[in-house]
Amino acid sequence: MICSFCGRTKKEVALMVSGNDAHICNNCIEKASQILEEENRTRVKGAAGGKFSLIKPVEMKVFLDDYVIGQDEAKKVLSVAIYNHYKRLQQKKQPDDTVIEKSNIIMVGDTGTGKTYLARTIARKLQVPFCIADATVITEAGYVGEDVETILTRLLQAADYDVAAAERGIVYIDEIDKIARKGDNPSITRDVSGEGVQQALLKLLEGSVVNVPPQGGRKHPEQKLVSINTENILFICGGAFNGIQRHIANRLNQNPIGFSASYSKTEDIDRDNLNQYITSQDLKTFGLIPELIGRLPIVTFLNPLDKASLTKIMTEPKNSLTRQYAKLFQMEDVELTFTPEALEAIVDKAMENNLGARGLRSICEAILTDAMFEIPSTRNIRKLEIDRPYVMERLHHGKFGAKLKVA
Ligand code: ADP
Repeated sequence: MICSFCGRTKKEVALMVSGNDAHICNNCIEKASQILEEENRTRVKGAAGGKFSLIKPVEMKVFLDDYVIGQDEAKKVLSVAIYNHYKRLQQKKQPDDTVIEKSNIIMVGDTGTGKTYLARTIARKLQVPFCIADATVITEAGYVGEDVETILTRLLQAADYDVAAAERGIVYIDEIDKIARKGDNPSITRDVSGEGVQQALLKLLEGSVVNVPPQGGRKHPEQKLVSINTENILFICGGAFNGIQRHIANRLNQNPIGFSASYSKTEDIDRDNLNQYITSQDLKTFGLIPELIGRLPIVTFLNPLDKASLTKIMTEPKNSLTRQYAKLFQMEDVELTFTPEALEAIVDKAMENNLGARGLRSICEAILTDAMFEIPSTRNIRKLEIDRPYVMERLHHGKFGAKLKVA
């Protein structure tokens, strides 16, 4: 018995499948399956290539409203930017025509207010490749850390190594504030993870051909590189910019004349949420270099989350925390509910911790761990209502309380 494809005998292979007058060995089956997979993939890509329906800004905002609470300003700015991004991709290439250039975005907002979450939610709706990169791991070329080009490696992976698709993608760069210039004096020491990275980012943001290592890691001479044109890639940057409020306040206080005269009456300023007055100038004072700011022309902000928003985040979004836990318990046939007072106690604790919405999950975990530990092994519980005393009891004795239980 010989494989009709490779000619190997039955003894040389692990498995031989026989049909009418022909045989095929396991090696050839595997190879054929790979060819088929590749073929299918290119066919799907070809069908989707370049064709997509425009997602209108209002439609995008309505979608975001289902998941993200508040942050209307940021939602609007992002929806418009993405709509324009699609339009730019659809523009015909005519040399004398007006060419729509991309407008990269920078978002400023405290930790846990939904910057990454917004970006992630948008990604779900999008029909272009999307990736999230972290600015903190990047260093200037030649130092320990990652090259800026690895940001595009992620995008390439998201696009399934389809370069043309990656060139239409959207990149979210998180923690952009962590690469701010460390000091005012640029000459004493090299700032390899700060200003150096900002310089390196310039060429990515503005649109040029960048050589990207397809598997990530450091670039080295023997490596195969893929060229990616970043002209049509939209970059969205986000950061907490801790301490920028001081710069904003200073600017608002010292601006009696000029463009900002409308804010000259200091009593008009909402001091609890200074982020809303942010301008490029404040980013510069914070330590971003002017060249980088110039390439991020749209500046938007996220509001700090107040008690009402945190309560809504607990209950309203399609995948709110209470729904997620209810689902977990439902799998054990237990109906989980929270009383309004219990929710209030959880939100109060989160406000105290100052972690924004991110604190909510860890608090819920602390409250529900005991229940999640015991319920799978008990048969007689069908309903669990979390009330305020239950919450207080767990918080008091758990890691969030002052009194830690010592075993
Ligand atoms: P950051 O602003 O630091 O990037 P994230 O976006 O990662 O914060 O938020 C952490 C988590 O908090 C998210 O995964 C999400 O579940 C929740 N969250 C934050 N802000 C909101 C919001 N405005 N609406 C709904 N959920 C939110």
